[in-house]
Amino acid sequence: MLCYERADDIASGVSGVVTQARGIRASFPDLNVAEIPFAAEIQNERVLYLLDPHGASRRSIALRIGDWALRFASGLVGVRDHAFELPWTPSFLHKHGGLILSIGQFNQWIGSQLMASGFAQIWPGTPVTAPLFADRAVTGVRLADQGVDKHGAPSGSFLPGMDVHAQLTVVGDGPFGAVGRALDQKFGTPEGHAKREWALGMKFVIELPSEATSPGSPLQPATVWHTFGYPEPEIFGFLYVHPDRIVSVGIFVPSWMSDPSRTAYRYLQHYIQHPALWKFLKYGTLRSWGAKSLDESGRHGEPFLTGDGYARIGEGSGSTNMLAGSGVDEAWTTGTQLAQAVIELLRAGKPFTQENLSATYETRRRASWVERGARESEDARNGFHGSVIHGMIGMALAGLTGGRISLSANIPPTHKQIRTTHSRSGNLKRKEAAELAINDGRPLHDALMSARGWPEIVFDGRLLVSHQDALLMGGKVQAMPGFADHVAFRSIGLCISCEDKTCIAMCSGQAITLGAEGLPAFEREKCVHCGACLWNCSKEFDDDLTNIDFRAGSGGLHSAEN
Ligand SMILES: Cc1cc2nc3c(=O)[nH]c(=O)nc-3n(C[C@H](O)[C@H](O)[C@H](O)COP(=O)(O)OP(=O)(O)OC[C@H]3O[C@@H](n4cnc5c(N)ncnc54)[C@H](O)[C@@H]3O)c2cc1C
Ligand code: SF4
Ligand code: SF4
Repeated sequence: MLCYERADDIASGVSGVVTQARGIRASFPDLNVAEIPFAAEIQNERVLYLLDPHGASRRSIALRIGDWALRFASGLVGVRDHAFELPWTPSFLHKHGGLILSIGQFNQWIGSQLMASGFAQIWPGTPVTAPLFADRAVTGVRLADQGVDKHGAPSGSFLPGMDVHAQLTVVGDGPFGAVGRALDQKFGTPEGHAKREWALGMKFVIELPSEATSPGSPLQPATVWHTFGYPEPEIFGFLYVHPDRIVSVGIFVPSWMSDPSRTAYRYLQHYIQHPALWKFLKYGTLRSWGAKSLDESGRHGEPFLTGDGYARIGEGSGSTNMLAGSGVDEAWTTGTQLAQAVIELLRAGKPFTQENLSATYETRRRASWVERGARESEDARNGFHGSVIHGMIGMALAGLTGGRISLSANIPPTHKQIRTTHSRSGNLKRKEAAELAINDGRPLHDALMSARGWPEIVFDGRLLVSHQDALLMGGKVQAMPGFADHVAFRSIGLCISCEDKTCIAMCSGQAITLGAEGLPAFEREKCVHCGACLWNCSKEFDDDLTNIDFRAGSGGLHSAEN
């Protein structure tokens, strides 16, 4: 079994992770959590609604009235440090009995055991460009060309991508993998299914001083906080406490946040400075940083799971449960279900046809908790396409009724979810921001946040550092030489006519910047492969495609703690 990974190490993943770990525990009935660095068994969960201490976030009138009522009754309901703690954790968010992990550390732990078994070889630094087809069957994969210039043209030591043939091609290339997208293009998607909901997850790993986790502090190891309401009402956040005074803290900026200013890095810096978090985090030191897209379409984005010679697993197969905010255990479990199916077929001497894979893998998956969770959560987030309040109501309805009641929505393609401000006050802020951007040369989206009243970030060189410095903390962006650029702009004309340039605002690594003649410019050496540009371009190129062409590429963020 050969496993190809584009990053230079299998420890380079970015995730939360808090998980119920049903599937992981089933694979390791005698799991000793202490063996996995950064892992802990969850002891304590809280849900906090964060009020805005600056008055800068884009809150609707209804939300402002709600906030005012909470502040008015703060003594009665216990609002402290601009935060209101929900008296209970909704059952659908509960991860009781589960684990806090670092995906980088977990991958290393499991990867070394797999390779030691002798059955599997893992090849990092090996991007796969496309599936190989024989008519409608998948017969293997093509690896990326090496020794090419940024446009893919052969240069000095050209090595064409090898074709690797296999009886079964397992596609687990995550939410924005090139192989999965190529299969969707060839075979289409099941009726009514499309990937239209995304979020960018960005996180810091912070080391705290000993006082912050001493007895009596709420930040005891194995603590989980879920937050909502700040820095924007659409942005959910999390804080997980690992052993040894390490916390993972992060936010999710969703595609349905219609604002073109989606500067996740700055939002994350405001998030950690919220008074309810900052009183614990302010003496901490940033150890590492990371970002990655999540496919939030869930079952709506489920592709054809099997075909002749291939099967799909993990987030790209629509397994992520957006009600529980859980993707790791689901991805793991779909992989183990396929493994059981493969063993069954090999024992029976049956080939890996669509029919056989469907009867073994799909049947297992449909009968499992992964499918139940996917169905319960499939419409849970619909309300957010109306407003945040609708979204919260929709989520609560779906969560409390096990998905039997939920709101409906007509979800547009991602580029149509981004809206330019047309309100009078919004346009005034844009004018003010444009002046700020011209005066001190900062990006327009950053200036827009300042114009809206967000305080400037005061760097302390320890926890609050510039975006460029964060790219070098606890890891490094790797971009092996000799590979082509994996981000390309399909039409220069569309970029010229594009006012908002959301691809720049959202770029997690500042790899897309404003280049010559006002056009976006891509630098592979800074790209963390978060995939956010793919769904953050506001222009339609063709049908559902945006103006960003996101291909298979090598490298990305190397940070084993994420
Ligand atoms: C900040 C953040 C916080 C999160 N928090 C949680 C949480 O608390 N709990 C939870 O359960 N989930 C959480 N998630 C979601 C979770 O990370 C995903 O659901 C999960 O990682 C999906 O696993 P996967 O293996 O399907 O895909 P991925 O983890 O995306 O793995 C896909 C792999 O394929 C590789 N790849 C892609 N394309 C190619 C190619 N062309 N060639 C070779 N290799 C390729 C990628 O490099 C990657 O290693 C979070 C995500 C983020 C970003
Ligand atoms: S890639 Fe998309 S968002 Fe970026 S400048 Fe071009 S058209 Fe605009
Ligand atoms: S260019 Fe790279 S870092 Fe920037 S959004 Fe795209 S994938 Fe992420």
